[in-house]
Amino acid sequence: MKKIKLGISSCLLGQRVRYNGEHKLEPYLKYRLGKYINWRPVCPECEAGLPVPREAMELYGSFNAPRLLGVQTQTDYTHFIQQFITKRIAQLKEERLWGFVFKSKSPSCGLKGVSISSGCLLNYFKGEGLFAKAWRRLCPFLPLTDEKSLKDSLGRESFIIGLAVLADWQKTLTLKKSAQALALFHRKHKLILQACDLKTWQVLHKLPRWAKSMARWPFYEAYQQKLLVALKKGLAPERHQRVLSFIRNYLKRLLQPQERQRLTKTIKLYSQGKASLKDLSQLIKAYAQKYHRRWLLSQSYLKIPTQEWAQAWEIP
Ligand code: SF4
Repeated sequence: MKKIKLGISSCLLGQRVRYNGEHKLEPYLKYRLGKYINWRPVCPECEAGLPVPREAMELYGSFNAPRLLGVQTQTDYTHFIQQFITKRIAQLKEERLWGFVFKSKSPSCGLKGVSISSGCLLNYFKGEGLFAKAWRRLCPFLPLTDEKSLKDSLGRESFIIGLAVLADWQKTLTLKKSAQALALFHRKHKLILQACDLKTWQVLHKLPRWAKSMARWPFYEAYQQKLLVALKKGLAPERHQRVLSFIRNYLKRLLQPQERQRLTKTIKLYSQGKASLKDLSQLIKAYAQKYHRRWLLSQSYLKIPTQEWAQAWEIP
């Protein structure tokens, strides 16, 4: 399997680049997800030229345009870091990264919930770090997350499923471009895309058909843009439930009463966070096999949690 390339805050891979000369190694990211991902480490503060160790920094001022100040000296690093960030993100875009995992809470890398001091004693509000904010603005469609969100089972599930779909898309891009190849990819990931974003899926659904009659139209680019929009939304519980209800109704007429009960119970446990997507997928897959539902068996929604990406689910 060709690894998918993602950016990551360097300290999460164990690089000693933090202000105090330490790292924030996340073994799950480095060793477990490292089997699937070609990590591209970036430390905006170090790469901009700040030394290790350096003084701690914090965001200060307004929500929309906070300043990055040294905690002890009150030196303003905002302009220095901003200049670097814009240039660096342009370079990284050329490298075709498929997403980024940020270090949470950092005034540079934090994606959300970063403390911004208003200037009044003990008066803080929450915002985002300068580097993460620039990524969000300059690459609005790319999947972005932080190590904290990946500790939550739904956040991790959503991120891994998105990566697996993108890895397959990366593979599709290496094949000869055709309307059939696009339709094949689209059919395989139908349930995942519906679970992520039904409206975008409806637009995506038309593209392979249009592609047949418009051979020169850049339909792959259009498809990719919509695909990233859908995956970025991720698998929110209610959207998951909609697809699971669809599967339950699809199988309902075929299942024995006991099997039906078991499926309903497992779906309920899954929605309560008491069963994993892997367990649920295995059960649905077993019924689809028993009743020869080839279409359902072809869906990546059932395959991703149980096949080659399975190890990515387990947190060591
Ligand atoms: S959080 Fe970002 S800026 Fe801070 S040490 Fe880690 S990579 Fe560097």
